[in-house]
Amino acid sequence: MRPARLGPAVLTVSSLLFLITACGSSQGGTSAEGTLSVVASTNVYGGIASAVGGPGVEVTSIIDDPSADPHSFEANARTQLAVSKADVVVENGGGYDDFLDTLISSTGTDATVVNAVDVSGRSAAAEAAGEQLNEHVWYDFPTVEKVAGAIAAALGKADPGGAGGYSANAAAFTRRIDGLIAAEEQARPATQGVGVVVTEPVPGYLLDALGAVDRTPREFSAAIEEGGDVSPSVLRQTLDLFSSGQVSALVYNEQTTGPQTDQVVDAAKRAGVAVVPVAETLPAGEDYVAWMQRNLDAVVAALST
Ligand SMILES: [Zn+2]
Repeated sequence: MRPARLGPAVLTVSSLLFLITACGSSQGGTSAEGTLSVVASTNVYGGIASAVGGPGVEVTSIIDDPSADPHSFEANARTQLAVSKADVVVENGGGYDDFLDTLISSTGTDATVVNAVDVSGRSAAAEAAGEQLNEHVWYDFPTVEKVAGAIAAALGKADPGGAGGYSANAAAFTRRIDGLIAAEEQARPATQGVGVVVTEPVPGYLLDALGAVDRTPREFSAAIEEGGDVSPSVLRQTLDLFSSGQVSALVYNEQTTGPQTDQVVDAAKRAGVAVVPVAETLPAGEDYVAWMQRNLDAVVAALST
C-alpha cells in the first residue's frame, strides 16, 4: 500500500503562510517575483501544467529525455533545488516516480502536491477488482481531465488573483481532452474485442477505452517493465500470439527496449502484425493533446486493419 498523500486542501494553510512570508521578506520559494513555479516529474505532466498555468507559470519537468526510463530515474542536485523552490509539484504516483516523493520529503518543500494516481481513483478500482494498478494514468483521458482541474486548484491556492485564469485554462484544456474521449468512442465499434500484445502496459487505459483485448502473458509485461528477462517459455508463448493470428497489433514501449523486446517486434513484423511504438515522455516540441491524438490514431489504425 502506498502512503497517504496530503491533499491540496490540507496544504492550503501552509501555502498561504508561505506566500505571506515570501512577500514580506523576498526570501520565498517562488523562482522570481510574482512567478509561480511548478515542478513535474515528467514532461507529460509538465505539458499539462503549462496548458493550465499559461505563460506566466514557470514549469520544470524533471524527466524530458525520450531515451530516459522514468521507472529507473535518479534525482540530482539540480532537481533537488527545483523541488525546494516549487509552489506546486505534479507527480504520477503509484510507485512510478518515487524519486519525487523522496525529494519532497528531503527538501521539506511547502509545495502543493498533485498526485495523478490519487486523483484518478484507479488504485481503489484496481484493488476492488483484485488487479495490480496500471500506473501509466496519463493514457487515461478522464484522469488527465481531473489532473488539470487539480493543478488549476493548486495554482489558484498559491495565486488567488490568478485562480479564474487557471480555471479557464483548465476548462479549455478539458474541452480538448473531451475531443480525445469522443474519438475513442467513435473508434470503438472497429476496435472492440480486437487482440493486442503490449511489451509494457503503458497505453493500457487507451486500449481499454477502445475495448481492445490485451492477450500479453502477464509474466511477459511484468518482466519487461521491471527490466528483467522473460523465461524462454513465456517468450515463446508471446511470439506464438503473432504467428497464430490471435492479435492485430503490437504496442511496444520504445523507451524500454532490449534483445527480447526486439525479438517480439521482429516476430510481429514477420507475421504482418501492425507495430505501434509508444513512449513515457512527450516528444520535443509536441503538446500533450496533439501527442495523444497521434497515439490514438496510430493505435486505432493498427487495430482496425
Ligand atoms: Zn512504464
